[in-house]
Amino acid sequence: MSNDSSDERLPDWVTWRPRPFPDANLLLLPGRRPALVDSGFTGHAAETAAWAHAHAGRIALVVNTHWHSDHVGGNALLRARGAGIAASTPDADAVARRDPGCCGAEYLDQPVAPYTVDEPLHDGQVLRLGDADWQVVSTPGHTPGHLSLWQPEERLLAVGDALSDYDVGWVNLALDGPGAAATALASLHRLAALGSRVLLPAHGPVPADPAAAFATALRRARRLVDDPAGAVWYGARRIFAFALMIRGGVAAAEAEPYLHARAWLTDSARLLGRTPEALAAELVDSMLRSGAVVLRDGRLYASAEHRPVTAESLRVPFPRAWPSA
Ligand SMILES: [Zn+2]
Repeated sequence: MSNDSSDERLPDWVTWRPRPFPDANLLLLPGRRPALVDSGFTGHAAETAAWAHAHAGRIALVVNTHWHSDHVGGNALLRARGAGIAASTPDADAVARRDPGCCGAEYLDQPVAPYTVDEPLHDGQVLRLGDADWQVVSTPGHTPGHLSLWQPEERLLAVGDALSDYDVGWVNLALDGPGAAATALASLHRLAALGSRVLLPAHGPVPADPAAAFATALRRARRLVDDPAGAVWYGARRIFAFALMIRGGVAAAEAEPYLHARAWLTDSARLLGRTPEALAAELVDSMLRSGAVVLRDGRLYASAEHRPVTAESLRVPFPRAWPSA
């Protein structure tokens, strides 16, 4: 049994390593075409690559479920060591032209080391990963280019951020339009219909019962459709918590000025009919009250489990300044 978590539901040709934020879980498929699904946060790229090489040798292909910073941060380093990068066609096209919106890096203030996509993927495409064939399932919603991977013989389903055991991916109604929540819900229905035996989410544990995880996720996704303001709040809380995690907290006095300068906060305020100042204050206050944010020695920290990254590792250019592909 080669998976780190010794999960007996996984075949021995799957190596699985759960990781806390700011990294996505690692799904490694050793074999003739060693492949890694998602590559973690930029600040942990060296550790991600070392782990992948130790368990699979050379990595031939990295497949990104989507382009958020906690999923693509190891791309640059693994590519420099010979891996190809595969991503959905919309993500690949935007990365190729260095679109300033790539990865939501600047919009979300989440740095990503510059990378290039070698293999654009489309819905229904069959990919050899390790020694098995996986099918690309287009699952837009959390991001427009989000994809999942389906292994029909073992009925394994890698779902990225579409859902987890306890959660459903947040949606960006400002950037992706008012239909983004309904798009995410439709993608979840499509995934649920596959009849997976084992769900591999990018965050949190492997759900004990895939059907129960889908039932919860579908309820949550339906709520995001029915309550757009709730969906905006949900996204804002997740984005701010992530910002606190990768910065090792923020001085309490700097939190609101930091938020006022963020495009995502300004967009969220507009959708909620508030000023950015009012939303920033309410966001900090409500997260302190819920316990999602804690105040310690004059600094605000995210309370969810996470691992530190160095400030140095955050100093990478935003996509508009990436060297051309
Ligand atoms: Zn994401």
